[in-house]
Amino acid sequence: MKYSDLLNITEEHGNPVYVYDTEKIISQFNRLTNAFNTVKKLKLNYAAKALSNLAILKLMNKLGSGLDTVSIQEVKLGLLAGFKPESIIYTPNGVSLEEIEEAAALGVRINIDNLSILEQFGGTHPDIPVCIRINPHVMAGGNSNISVGHIDSKFGVSIHQIPHLLRIVELTNMKINGIHMHTGSDILDIDVFLYASEILFETAKNFKELEFIDFGSGFKVPYKDGDIETNIEELGEKLSNRFNEFCEEYGKELTLAFEPGKFLVSEAGYFLAKVNVVKQTTSTVFASVDSGFNHLIRPMLYGANHQIINISNPKGRERYYSVVGYICETDTFANNRRINEISEGDILCFKNAGAYCFTMASNYNSRYRPAEVLWYQGKSLLIRERESFDDLLRNQIDVKNLFETKKQEAPVK
Ligand SMILES: *Cc1c(COP(=O)(O)O)cnc(C)c1O
Repeated sequence: MKYSDLLNITEEHGNPVYVYDTEKIISQFNRLTNAFNTVKKLKLNYAAKALSNLAILKLMNKLGSGLDTVSIQEVKLGLLAGFKPESIIYTPNGVSLEEIEEAAALGVRINIDNLSILEQFGGTHPDIPVCIRINPHVMAGGNSNISVGHIDSKFGVSIHQIPHLLRIVELTNMKINGIHMHTGSDILDIDVFLYASEILFETAKNFKELEFIDFGSGFKVPYKDGDIETNIEELGEKLSNRFNEFCEEYGKELTLAFEPGKFLVSEAGYFLAKVNVVKQTTSTVFASVDSGFNHLIRPMLYGANHQIINISNPKGRERYYSVVGYICETDTFANNRRINEISEGDILCFKNAGAYCFTMASNYNSRYRPAEVLWYQGKSLLIRERESFDDLLRNQIDVKNLFETKKQEAPVK
């Protein structure tokens, strides 16, 4: 997208605002699909939690993607967006049996990640096939908060518990239609991914009625210059070959599934905020924008490095800035970042704002969540209104006369 297009969007729809470039999402989808073009049955299930606006879900459906969901509400959003139930996979962690049963009743695929629920679900619904999420105990990436395959992770059934798992399947007579892993959001190394895949293949041999193997996601996209990016083409070639080989061994053409979130939408997103104040202190220059971690929490939560561009002055001389928000708490977007000279009123553009940005936004400090705009065929389309004061009050119950003490009659003397 051109900076001038982004500036026009802030003029038309105000700020702060999230903008999503449809073309970029389509090209990422095609890139991933092409990387696995030697696999006969490939299924991408877009991870709804990355960005769950209905327009984005509809786009994914149109592209032929399935949907990976982690809550019953995401399942319902997916159905509302037009996904067929069988195109939705429900991969929750730590939810109640009742919620899983509710999802099953809607006809979506079920992925179970612990033995307790597996035993209960299999006991009462042996006829409903389920997928099992395995924890291969492979450490992907360096940040243990986003790596979810390691030994202390709460996700998945440990590969060391396979004997118990098999016993449950045998005793309940349930049908296992898929094997799944999701090692986390930071796969730096293709070899690590392939290593984990071998564990999955080994596990898969235990089940005779599989339809698919789901390799999760964790594809890395670059956030700043010099960042490592998962080489999708190389991974595609190596994993496809190995997968095809496995299908031959297994004696059946299985579906290779992925559930990418970040890879599909991260780079398509731009977050635009206006600079309210440029504040020179004794040690730094702060640029305070009309936003904060209530709108974009990743820098504070994960130390994420979102590139920031002053699109009002893209040719200006670069200076060092600390970009901060207006929340009454430390909410730093970037420290000592070189940005084209900033004046009050300029629009800053935060890149990679498609994944885990709007969906993690809150009303902290009683601020409104931003608007969302889709950029499609050279036009901007509002796909979520900016919140208003009514939204802050919605669901609050303003109890009349609360804490008002009855006026006492003055005692007669
Ligand atoms: C969050 C999540 C994903 C998506 O991960 P990305 O790093 O955004 O691609 C995939 N699968 C599951 C089960 C998830 O929870």
